This record gives sequence, C-alpha cells and structure tokens, in this order.
Amino acid sequence: MPDQVPTILAADGDGIARAARLLRDGRLVAVPTETVYGLAADATNETAVARIFAAKGRPGFNPLIVHVPDLSAARRIATVSPEAEALARAFWPGALTLVLPLAPDAGLAPPVTAGLSTVAIRVPAHPVMRALLAEVGRPLAAPSANPSGRMSATTAAHVVDGLGDAVDAVLDAGPCAVGVESTILAPRPEGTRLLREGGLPREAIEAITGPLTADLTPGRVEAPGQMERHYAPRVPLRLGGAAEAGEVVVGFGAGDCDLNLSEAGDLDEAALRLFSVLHEAEAMALDRGAPAIRVPRLPEKGLGRAINDRLQRASTPG
Ligand code: AMP
Ligand code: MG
Repeated sequence: MPDQVPTILAADGDGIARAARLLRDGRLVAVPTETVYGLAADATNETAVARIFAAKGRPGFNPLIVHVPDLSAARRIATVSPEAEALARAFWPGALTLVLPLAPDAGLAPPVTAGLSTVAIRVPAHPVMRALLAEVGRPLAAPSANPSGRMSATTAAHVVDGLGDAVDAVLDAGPCAVGVESTILAPRPEGTRLLREGGLPREAIEAITGPLTADLTPGRVEAPGQMERHYAPRVPLRLGGAAEAGEVVVGFGAGDCDLNLSEAGDLDEAALRLFSVLHEAEAMALDRGAPAIRVPRLPEKGLGRAINDRLQRASTPG
C-alpha cells in the first residue's frame, strides 16, 4: 500500500458532488462502473486528460473511452450510423463501447482519441456513475483505473493499491457487478467488428447483428489497447495445463485449489471475481515466494470468452 492515499469519497449525494467538483476543476477521480473502476477526467480538458496518461503510465497512442449519459450526448461527439444506433438502443446503458467516427466539433481534448478519426463511447449503467455524469455535465474520459498493463481494479482498495495518490479521489461504491471491461465494437454498414471481448456476451450481440467479424489480433493498431501483454500480475501467470510444485493454483468449478473463480462453475460469477482473485493470488504468491500463478482456461462461451482473453494476455511473457 503506498504511503500517500487518495481521498475516499462515499457514493452518496455529498461524495458525488465533491467528485463532480474535482472533475470540473481538472482533477482525477476513480469512479465505479458496472464493469471495472475507471480513472476519470473531464474529456474536454487537455491538462486533465494528460494526467490520466501520466497516472497510468499509459502510452499516448492508446486512446481512452469517453463516458456520456445517453445516446443524444453521444451524438454531440460522434456520428451515429443506423447500425450503431441499433446497438446503442439494444445495449445502452451497459457494458458496450462503440467506436464511431469523431464529430468535427466534438470538443474533446485531442489526446483522448490519440489522433484517430474515431472515438470510443460508452453509456454506463452504474447508478453512481450516471449520477456523477449528470452532475459534471461534461463527457468523462475514463480508462480502467490501474497502472498500464496491470490488472484492472474492481474495488476501491485495488485502485489505491495500484495508483496510490496519483489519483486525487476514489468514489467508493463497493465491488463492480460485472468485473471485466466493456465489449468494444466498431459498427460498419458492411458488418460489425469486434475489437475487444468484454462484459457483454458475444451471443447477445450476435442475436442483433448476426455474426461479428472478430478483430482481436493482438498488437493491431486499430485497437491499440489490444496489446499482447496486458492485465498482468507481478508474478508470472501460467494458463492451462497441470499445476507445478509451489504454484498458487486458481480453480474453476469443483476441485482442489488455493482460490476459486466460481465453485459452482458459473461464468458470470467467475467474471465478477476475476480481478479480485488475481489480486489475491498475486499477494499470496509474493508472500509464499511462489514461482507462478496457475489459472485454468474457461469454456469459450458467454463471459468465458472475455475471461480467457484477459488470462491469455496476462500470461503472455513480458
Ligand atoms: P481501457 O479503458 O483501459 O479498458 O482501454 C480502452 C480500450 O478502448 C483500449 O483497448 C483502447 O485501445 C480502446 N479504444 C479507445 N478508443 C478507440 C478507438 N478510437 N478505436 C479503437 N479502439 C479504441
Ligand atoms: Mg485497461
């Protein structure tokens, strides 16, 4: 735990009002969403946005997701095609990010989009985040509230542990309900492309769009955050296969292990516990001097796809 800790704000009217004031003043506030905690700043304030990149150690070529209260606010910063509108109407508010053409008069600070002609937008469902967006009255840029390349935060304690006083305040609304980041889609007339597996299961999206074109090639420039190594704990993570002596063993379903993602073998529960279990496994491994953390590969369906994606990237050697 760092020596200097940020202010922890309760997720009540007073806490939300204080968070909104800080954000309007160009400060950084870690905010609860239904996916993971976000590191928020006023998306129209270039100095504030620069602080996000500095606090996370995030490379400037990796653009941020902009959070807005509703579809009409999204229309002020992006061009919403009929394909995009159908997705927005089906899944907003929720764990879906849409990459859309940036409107010429969007008013966003240029680093938000890292110089791209598109912008990633989400309308979150978390009631505290929604109240905050209403009170700030400006779009909020918010990547996940963790140091770049490391595990995402699903509790206020994870945020403090990772970012310390690089963030001015944390609005603490307890653990996140979904536990993995949003699904990212780029809707096009010729077919919607999947840029990141996430908290909205692919099956639910394909029921509306038909088959998605997956574009998950690690390291591709179009989704710069899809880096090969990402979400990594400070101890090597080994994916699949039999555990070796001394490893911290993470399980799924019945069976012997140190920590279990879901004893019932439930993928939604595994998603919401994923980052907590990985944070705990990391602490356990450091404490015991374990050589690695062994994690299972989960079924490729529902949120299992997003979990496997995170585990795959987290286990890629640095
Ligand atoms: P994070 O908020 O940390 O989950 O990261 C945001 C993700 O959105 C990263 O993978 C970014 O690369 C991706 N992203 C943001 N803006 C765009 C964009 N305009 N085009 C493609 N991907 C984007
Ligand atoms: Mg992230």
